Amino acid sequence: MKYLDVLESKLGRKATREEIEAFTVMWSEHCGYSHTKGYIRQLPKVGAGGNAGIITLDDYHFLAFKVESHNHPSAIEPFNGAATGVGGIIRDVLAMGARPTAILDSLHMDRIIDGIIEGISDYGNSIGVPTVGGELRISNYYKHNPLVNVMAVGVGKNEHLISSKASKPGQVIVIFGGATGRDGIHGASFASEDLTGEKATKLSIQVGDPFAEKLLIEAFLEMVEKGLVEGAQDLGAGGVLSATSELVARGGLGAVVHLERVPLRESDMLPIEILISESQERMAVVTSAEKAEEVLRIARKHLLFGDIVAEVTDNGRYVAKYKDEVILDVPAKLLEESPEEPIYDYTPAPFRKFRWIRFKNVDAHDVFERYDYMVGTDTILPPGLGPAVMRVKSSALGYSLVIHSRADLGAQDPYWGAYITVLEAIRKTLSVGANPVAITDGINYADPDIEPLGLAGQMKGLRDACERFDVPVASGNASLYNTYKKKGIPPTLVVGMVGKIENLNIPKPSKGPVYAVGYPDFSFDREKKLQEEITKLVRKGLFVISMHDYSRMTTFKNALSKLGLNLRIQTPITEAVHQMVIVFGEPKTELPVRKIGFCY
Ligand code: ADP
Ligand code: MG
Ligand code: MG
Ligand code: MG
Ligand code: MG
Repeated sequence: MKYLDVLESKLGRKATREEIEAFTVMWSEHCGYSHTKGYIRQLPKVGAGGNAGIITLDDYHFLAFKVESHNHPSAIEPFNGAATGVGGIIRDVLAMGARPTAILDSLHMDRIIDGIIEGISDYGNSIGVPTVGGELRISNYYKHNPLVNVMAVGVGKNEHLISSKASKPGQVIVIFGGATGRDGIHGASFASEDLTGEKATKLSIQVGDPFAEKLLIEAFLEMVEKGLVEGAQDLGAGGVLSATSELVARGGLGAVVHLERVPLRESDMLPIEILISESQERMAVVTSAEKAEEVLRIARKHLLFGDIVAEVTDNGRYVAKYKDEVILDVPAKLLEESPEEPIYDYTPAPFRKFRWIRFKNVDAHDVFERYDYMVGTDTILPPGLGPAVMRVKSSALGYSLVIHSRADLGAQDPYWGAYITVLEAIRKTLSVGANPVAITDGINYADPDIEPLGLAGQMKGLRDACERFDVPVASGNASLYNTYKKKGIPPTLVVGMVGKIENLNIPKPSKGPVYAVGYPDFSFDREKKLQEEITKLVRKGLFVISMHDYSRMTTFKNALSKLGLNLRIQTPITEAVHQMVIVFGEPKTELPVRKIGFCY
């Protein structure tokens, strides 16, 4: 264990075997954020935080959203790794009291890895949540370390927003869902290491059951609707230990956990294995002692296992017992307070011309056509033509969703790579007539101990862009140690952006001349001008699309051809960074305009 000496000095004694196991999980980079929490604290924020980020849509609805990585599991076992990535992030959104409405996936790999695509489509399609957007970046950078970042989105009623903590002693924690087995033991610490490590075995990979997840969603939402849920958390990395200790520690409370009550799939599990197993499709619900029976009745009605596994206490201790035997007895706060690594100030280099590092040209239809993007019937704008646009059921309101990254720039300059990623996500959001509201950021990085400044640059670029362009961060994720034999991925910031839309009449591509509007290079003022111009053009009914590789556009061209349209670009634009959008039809604008082709 990496921080054993810190742990023993805090405890003031030698740690027991169980404590070492528990703190290995909770103080892993994946659960504890040692290298990133200092930077994350500095980001401009919106919403209360918790299992997922929250923005208010209107007087009745909120939107919950978060991005999560499943990079390490997907490298070892593509199908189950990617599938459980979807399942995990869906539960984060669910835990806020929201019905999951959409999935987006950001994929970086050296070739299309079928297992990963199948894992995502199999899980998403089975739970009936559409995968409405994503990105597919093919490059040798990701040969040993594919990146699978999945963003989930949900819509809830404001009156049913659920907190991510226990609030008073005497409450109980019910855990319900699938039964617990040995799958995923030490998954969190495995996800915090170089992939050549000895934990890189299939033993650490969880197995998903989307049908159980579907039951979990319906059961949980019924509990929410009936006012039975006083706090909630999904079970993901770190299993029962992470979910229950985080719930009580956030409320400044403690818990007594009864491990013999956790419904098991394998009868001979050790208590510590029950505590840290990462079996999927489980939720923890904080409720009162009186309401707990009703919670369990609803779980059983939906054919799920469940039991009252813990009581909330006021003494701040986290006590895990198996029958009368105490397995763990530590301050709950200590489990949350993983040691913090130093953070670094980063002074960005002046903006300069970037090299054009082109990722392989692929048609994303080969991927997203395997996803169901229409199930639920709220998808207004399907993949291929820009950001996804979704309607809020029984309302005139809509929201846009996009997930975006620029690792080709990140490889050259982590600061500007991150910064430009945010700006491009804003342009995309504006291009469907939406107003950018907030982002969820997915940090993907190599080894912060070898190159701490690259991480500092990525975080500073993200922070500066969010501050200057006024789009706060609602939630996020960090995945470090994406390395193999110590060599790693380029800084790859994945930005998921949500926007609000009042007018769901979004312009469609049309026949006629096609223009590039905007400047060939970057400055703050020009970016602002371009942003305003995009909104104006869309209001005038012109179809606008923002993309960064104007030379190939295979996916876009194929999406057009499905609408019976052909696109011929005569003068492709090939600067690595440009502040331009493509506009279909005559753009009356003061910005530089160049005719680049024709749609017929
Ligand atoms: P989970 O346990 O569901 O995987 P995480 O451990 O990924 O959740 O995240 C813990 C909390 O920290 C969440 O509230 C998440 O939104 C927040 N968070 C993590 N990374 C970031 C980030 N890069 N930016 C903003 N918030 C973040
Ligand atoms: Mg966590
Ligand atoms: Mg969570
Ligand atoms: Mg999660
Ligand atoms: Mg996470």
